[in-house]
Order: sequence, then C-alpha cells, then structure tokens
Amino acid sequence: MNLTGARLELTEVNCRFDGRLVVKDVSLSLRAGQVTCLLGPSGCGKSTTLRMIAGIEKLETGAIRIDGRVMSSADVHVPPEEREVGLMFQDFALFPHLSVTQNVAFSLSGPKARRAERAVELLKRVGLERHAASYPHELSGGEQQRVALARALAQKPRIMLMDEPFSGLDNRLRDGIRDETLALLKEEGTAVLLVTHEPEEAMRMADEIALMRDGEIVQVGAPYQVYTRPADREAAAFFSDINTLRATVSGGLVETAFGGFLAPGQPDGAMVDIVIRPQHLTIDFDRSGTGPVASPSHGVPARGVVQRARFLGSESLVEFEMDHDKSRIMAVVPNVFLPKPGRALWLSLRRDRCHVFPASHTG
Ligand code: ADP
Ligand code: MG
Repeated sequence: MNLTGARLELTEVNCRFDGRLVVKDVSLSLRAGQVTCLLGPSGCGKSTTLRMIAGIEKLETGAIRIDGRVMSSADVHVPPEEREVGLMFQDFALFPHLSVTQNVAFSLSGPKARRAERAVELLKRVGLERHAASYPHELSGGEQQRVALARALAQKPRIMLMDEPFSGLDNRLRDGIRDETLALLKEEGTAVLLVTHEPEEAMRMADEIALMRDGEIVQVGAPYQVYTRPADREAAAFFSDINTLRATVSGGLVETAFGGFLAPGQPDGAMVDIVIRPQHLTIDFDRSGTGPVASPSHGVPARGVVQRARFLGSESLVEFEMDHDKSRIMAVVPNVFLPKPGRALWLSLRRDRCHVFPASHTG
C-alpha cells in the first residue's frame, strides 16, 4: 500500500562494499513531476544510491519503494527490468550501427511498424524528427543526448534516474538541453532524481536538493532553503566561498570584530564559527577613515586592510586582513571595485545572513 503518496521512497538504505559502508541510512522521498538533485562531492555515494534504486546494486538494509511497492529490501530484490525506471548517464552509449529511429525503437516492444511509429513520435517530442534516419556519428553531442532522452522516455518510466548526464556537454549547449529535458520530464509527470556534484546545476534544476556527504544525506530542502539555511559549516561551504569568524562563547555571547553575536545553546568556553558568504559583506565607501557607527541590521563595522582585489566578470572579490585579529575576510561587491593593497576600509555584514555553528575541527 502507498501510504505516503510518494512515487519513490527510500527508507534508511545502507550499502556496503568490502566491509565499508558507502551509503548510510539514506532516506529520501520523490513525488511525480518533481525534480530532486542528489548533490555532493565525488565519491560520497551518489551513483551507488542511484544504482540501488535502478536495481543494479543490492542494498544491505533499508527499503526502496516505488508507488508503495517494495523493490529492494534485505530480502526482496525486484530485477531492474521490472522497475519501470529510466536511466540516463553521461556515457549514454547509442548503438553506432543503428539509425536514430532504430536506437529509440530498440527498447520498445510490439510489432515493428508500431515501434517505428512510436519512435518517430518520441523524436518529435525531443525536436529531432529531421534526424530520424541519421546515424549517431552524424549528430552533435547535444543531439545525441536528446536521442538518449527519447530512448529513455520510450519505456514511459515512472522514475528517471540521471547520473551527471549533462557533464559531457559544453556549457552553452548544456543550459538549453537540460532545461528542455527537465521540462519534458515534468510534463510527463516523471519523478526525476538527478545526480550532480555541481551546486550551480542543482540550484538551477532542482525543486528539491538532497545534499550528500560521506554516504549520508546532510540536508534536504528547496534550493533557496539549502543555500540560505545551511545545516552546518561544510554545507554552507559547498555552495560558495565562505568567511568564518571563530570565537569563544562567554555568557551566551561571542565577541567578534563585528560586535557581539548570540550563541544560543552553546556553553561558556565553547568555540563557535560564525559563517557568512562574501556577498553578504558590505564595504563602506563613504567612511574609509572615520570610526564605526553601529546599525541593528549590520552590527558594528570593522576595519580591514586590502590584501588583494580581483575582477570576476560581473563582480569583484576583495580580500582583507582585519585589524581586530588579523583574520582574513573576503567580500564580493558588484561590478568593478579594485582598491589597492594596503588601503584601509570599513566593512559591515548582514547579520541576518550570519550562521552560528559549533566550531568544526577542520578549521
Ligand atoms: P559518487 O557517485 O558520489 O562519486 P559512488 O557512489 O560512485 O560515489 O562511490 C561511493 C564510494 O563507493 C566510493 O568510495 C567508491 O570508491 C566506492 N564504490 C563504488 N562502487 C564500488 C564497487 N562496485 N566496489 C567497491 N567500491 C565501490
Ligand atoms: Mg558518480
């Protein structure tokens, strides 16, 4: 019975290779028409998770359900071909000796004429009917990727599993292809699980991001949520450069160059990290010399000396050494701002964009 209404549901799934747990208690839920990105660094267990869902890999404990039916558990293993799951990988391997239509028709069943007809329908769907008679080597990388998509769609999968399928395409081609691909899958009501190690790709594509690290899901949420409310310092650092102000708790407060911060739940003497992204620092251009003026939203300004400034295209990255404790702080400002090294400037930060975490060991 499907109690949750989820199309795909993973419950505390574990997988072990050579005695080592590589997927640990992973729980995840996807609805029809939803795109979830499994995001994390290389080697964290993303592909293994996908392979277990596809039925190519067996799990040790836990359960995988599709539309409420158990597909994998400690004692159930439904074979891959009975799961109605589509797969797309970076190496999508079209058959070189078959035409585009034959490649798509390959995974269809039924009479030959009907299969060809359906293959042409699918090629129309992905905008490739002109190339129906072409061979894979006559197509661009993006077109080949679309053939692979048509082939995957041919089986009317309830779930589409995609393992970094766009990483082989060059940048300009990629944006168009991935937007089109996901729009089409959403229209079909397919639940999509897209694996990527690139935060920008996940932010752009996902309805929901599941952030994975060392075999575990660290955080699940809408892109905005995961970006603005990171679960810990490492989760914050996965999406952008970050600044860390480290300080010791005293009376429930920590003192920094930017004034005092509350450290709720932290005992006296504990070290905390105050984490802030470079774009949430503001440089005070009007008051390079005069003293600080506190504001409720930006706290107390702090003075730093420019070490380095670089232009990044649409913004500039300026690195400071803070007078307060000689710590390094990065600020990103829009457009071109390239102050000379040695210049002293006042900085303030958006207090609502600061996150206070127990100090991590990695520093
Ligand atoms: P990701 O896709 O996130 O890069 P993987 O799921 O491919 O990570 O791998 C997770 C870990 O499991 C890695 O340490 C990898 O070396 C290991 N691993 C993957 N497949 C196997 C296998 N068949 N046998 C042994 N170890 C494996
Ligand atoms: Mg992988």
